[in-house]
Amino acid sequence: TRYVYRFGGGVDDGGKGDKNLLGGKGANLDGMAAIGLPVPPGFTITTEMCTRYYQDGGVYPESLRAQVANGIAHIESVTGKRFGDASDPLLVSVRSGARISMPGMMDTVLNLGLNDETVQGLAAASGDERFAWDSYRRFIQMYSDVVLELDHGAFEEALEIAKEDQGYTLDTEMSAEDWKALVAEYKGLVSKLWGKPFPQDVHDQLWGAISAVFGSWQADRAKVYRRLNAIPHDWGTAVNVQAMVFGNMGDTSATGVAFTRDPATGENAYYGEYLINAQGEDVVAGIRTPQYLTKQARERAGAKPLSMEEAMPGTYAELARVFEILEKHYRDMQDIEFTVQQGKLWMLQTRSGKRTAKAALKIAVDMAREGLISEEEAVARVDPAALDQLLHPTLDPKAPRDVLTKGLPASPGAASGAIVFDADTAERRNELGDAVILVRVETSPEDIHGMHAAKGILTARGGMTSHAAVVARGMGRPCVSGAGSLSIDNASKVLRIGSRELKEGDILTIDGATGEVMAGEVPTVQPELAGDFGTLMGWADKVRRLKVRANAETPLDCQTARDFGAEGVGLCRTEHMFFDAARITAVREMILADTEKGRRAALDKLLPEQRDDFAQIFMVMAGLPVTIRLLDPPLHEFLPHGEAEFEEVAKAAGVGVDALKRRAAELHEFNPMLGHRGCRLGVTYPEIYEMQARAIFEAALLVKQRSGEAPIPEIMIPLVATKKELELMKAIVDRVASEVFVEQGATVDYLVGTMIELPRAALKAGEIAEVGEFFSFGTNDLTQTTIGISRDDAGRFLTQYVDKGIFARDPFVSIDVEGVGQLIELAVERGRATRSGIKLGICGEHGGDPASIAFCEQTNLDYVSASPYRVPIARLAAAQAAL
Ligand code: PEP
Ligand code: MG
Repeated sequence: TRYVYRFGGGVDDGGKGDKNLLGGKGANLDGMAAIGLPVPPGFTITTEMCTRYYQDGGVYPESLRAQVANGIAHIESVTGKRFGDASDPLLVSVRSGARISMPGMMDTVLNLGLNDETVQGLAAASGDERFAWDSYRRFIQMYSDVVLELDHGAFEEALEIAKEDQGYTLDTEMSAEDWKALVAEYKGLVSKLWGKPFPQDVHDQLWGAISAVFGSWQADRAKVYRRLNAIPHDWGTAVNVQAMVFGNMGDTSATGVAFTRDPATGENAYYGEYLINAQGEDVVAGIRTPQYLTKQARERAGAKPLSMEEAMPGTYAELARVFEILEKHYRDMQDIEFTVQQGKLWMLQTRSGKRTAKAALKIAVDMAREGLISEEEAVARVDPAALDQLLHPTLDPKAPRDVLTKGLPASPGAASGAIVFDADTAERRNELGDAVILVRVETSPEDIHGMHAAKGILTARGGMTSHAAVVARGMGRPCVSGAGSLSIDNASKVLRIGSRELKEGDILTIDGATGEVMAGEVPTVQPELAGDFGTLMGWADKVRRLKVRANAETPLDCQTARDFGAEGVGLCRTEHMFFDAARITAVREMILADTEKGRRAALDKLLPEQRDDFAQIFMVMAGLPVTIRLLDPPLHEFLPHGEAEFEEVAKAAGVGVDALKRRAAELHEFNPMLGHRGCRLGVTYPEIYEMQARAIFEAALLVKQRSGEAPIPEIMIPLVATKKELELMKAIVDRVASEVFVEQGATVDYLVGTMIELPRAALKAGEIAEVGEFFSFGTNDLTQTTIGISRDDAGRFLTQYVDKGIFARDPFVSIDVEGVGQLIELAVERGRATRSGIKLGICGEHGGDPASIAFCEQTNLDYVSASPYRVPIARLAAAQAAL
């Protein structure tokens, strides 16, 4: 088996840029070399090797050694240098590269191949003693951190002390002799911390680095990232070994990162940062503040240090040419790493750039208009889940702001929350339901879980391409980075900005679009839904087959949903209307009444309120279907809590408090989710459903008369398990309908259908369809009852189920296609066999989940129903499912 694929110098082992095999980085190095771009020669060890390495318990197959040796020989022959050569050594970089880029997750080693002898050769060959020793100390430092896993703080400290002793502030002030002394110190540190001297054999160095890359695939932070991003654990990573090129060989050398378009806004302008006389990691690590790539960006920011366009116009023009070639070739915005070695440009990486939702949208729409991609490709390019970022409010421009400072606008969106200073606290407080802003000097991969838990991220250090910025953009978290005037005291948990002092728990607002940091909470406004968003949604609507409705029960939510493009209401949960403070007492009175008469008295108070609710919803949804579900409460949710509430209900019902408490105790259930809820309530207290049906029909006639347009009520019975239950409930609805129609001398069309949310209902769907005119899959309860996992208690253990691979994803978030999905398929088949035109939809939370929507498309449902803010996500996901 071939495990090693070479690239560069005109050699191509036919990896064909296959990301699954070569990883993202390796595939694109191969791809760039193949189209003749300047790529330092190298080779990629495949992801298959990584998987096999783990399967075989951490050993390599015999054949790998020869293949790697062959790879090194290839680099030697292209560069004319030899690995380990004491007079002019070949140095290589070793980097990881999974199929999908995992920023900051995996490890990189640069300058590999240096030892006490070759450093002399490098000095002689480059004629630059300082460069050689600087490279060697960097190598020892990185290798010790990444491969030997020694405490990197000790190395940083040694460097700080060395600078202090000499009275320097910058690394650039260190001389060759200073670096040489530091190397000696570093080697001492390695011996002390590792118990063995720093490896001098370049082949040992190489194999150590290869194993470290493979090992980092199983590092905790990599696992967390995979879990958060649903990346399978068995993909593995590739290893890329490549000839080093040096951006730190004086002032004609540089290194940088760039995007072919602005990854924050999507603007069609090159965007990036570079540093003269620096090596790779300096730019992303935020050690020196990088300079702008283009003159325009520099001028906009009012920055002084020259942009690359101004400082190195020739090389910049060459780079710009490469940008154009890469965008045309990959037909997407590219995220690029490059190095200039003594005036010569080298490409070290290209990949599709991570971007904010706003940028994704703009870039997709722009590229379709530029003719680079089709409208359908544009639809496919935008991650539906990322739209979430665009649909949420931004800071009210008119609201007063107590601006403390300004940093870089690293990831757009506004967030307010309590200040926390570490990732664990962020996670803990988020679990308690607090909105938090994670404030760090800079973030590292260890902070991922806290960044995820936070509403927003603020850092004191780091540029637009720093770890914090890249990860926050990927997660859709607002982020302000590099706010230099912050002084963070982690020990005493205070944040100082000028003369202001904020403590942990104080409220802070950040605006990731402007970089502003404000004290207190700032009010927000609704987002703009026209422009690129509207354009892309229009293209999505052209290709989608599934209709998209909303789960909504207030006129406001219905309006939001309609504005977002909902084509009706798929689920109006009437019990939510009963929670209203003004009517909860009457609801409690009804529930606690122990006679039908008592219940009817309370219901009479509720009827006008319900009628009014429905009339308002019908008005907002004029001309569109509205599915109203009759009452489905776990009763306990409505019981009074505490003395005052009991007294209030007792007074309204005209009964004693003690009697009421006795009744409440009678209603106590051990397992309310499987208790007296859904249509079981209608079976035992038919007068409740009678009242609701009456409210619906009276409202419908009212709206028909007022607006001239008749609404289309679809009355839905919850938690049905048998045909008989549905028959009884439908009889109530039909009887009330004819009563109301006779009273009013007018009629409306309506349907009566059922939720399918119990396994028995799915199995008996053929019979149930004899009565029901539509089905709506209630996948929340269907998941709960099929798997037998309480939807209210699952949170405590489901993450472990996902971590251990028992479920690929939380089945309450994304449909368990194999299990729950099978019941749905069966119900669809049996339901349609009985009633061929039966209307089929889904209204569980899954109706807004892109993967579940793809399943609904496959199953040929008629519509999905999602909460209002997820309606656009559902429209886009439905379109992608249809492509
Ligand atoms: C469901 O069970 O999927 C559903 C939509 O109903 P609820 O969440 O109200 O139980
Ligand atoms: Mg339900």
